[in-house]
Amino acid sequence: MAQTPAPSGPARRKKLRAPAASAPSATPMAPQAHYNTVRAAFEAFRQSEPEPKGELDHVNAYTLLVAVALSAQATDVGVNRATRALFATVDTPQKMLDLGEEGLIGHIKTIGLFRNKAKNVIKLSRILVEEYGGEVPSSRAALQSLPGVGRKTANVVLNMWWRIPAQAVDTHIFRVGNRTGLCPGRDVDAVERAIEDNIPAEYQLHAHHWMILHGRYICKARKPDCGRCIIRDYCAFEEKTA
Ligand code: SF4
Repeated sequence: MAQTPAPSGPARRKKLRAPAASAPSATPMAPQAHYNTVRAAFEAFRQSEPEPKGELDHVNAYTLLVAVALSAQATDVGVNRATRALFATVDTPQKMLDLGEEGLIGHIKTIGLFRNKAKNVIKLSRILVEEYGGEVPSSRAALQSLPGVGRKTANVVLNMWWRIPAQAVDTHIFRVGNRTGLCPGRDVDAVERAIEDNIPAEYQLHAHHWMILHGRYICKARKPDCGRCIIRDYCAFEEKTA
């Protein structure tokens, strides 16, 4: 992904706009908040929910990998609806190969891009069986070598299954990080670096879920619910709602 350096000096103090390719809703980009502000905000998240959980249903590392791969440009609710029956019987790469591409399509055709996703799931299942003994590898490089698995998918699996503080920046994290100034960046790679560079170590593991859930339910794209926001005092967004 193309990298655009973050502004420095006076430009950094202005209210900036991220490029449309990275920020469909023209997310305002606040300057990076001070360490103490970032710390206070994440402590508020921790007090509110010490162990935040992802919302994609899965029963093991393999079904988590498949669910995350299916969730690109789809909602977690929609993926869960499709995978409920699937994962009840198909929970290993070999069982997925036995089901076959057409059988898988029968389960996931309500999910966007289902044909391409079905192809990738079958291909990655074959690779897991042939090269990894049917197990899901636990390194980012090995995960990203699988068909249809990008850095974001790999980071979700590393974070949720192996509890490695990997940051998968989605549209919610991108928006929250930039509006608040907790971890701003012009594109998802820059926000990922801002999280790693600026969020204190003890909050790194759960930063991903705290921000996703906050963006999904409180700091919503069209109308943030600032009146119910637990990090309002630490947020730099200039257009807070009542
Ligand atoms: S105060 Fe409003 S804009 Fe800031 S994080 Fe909370 S909901 Fe989002």
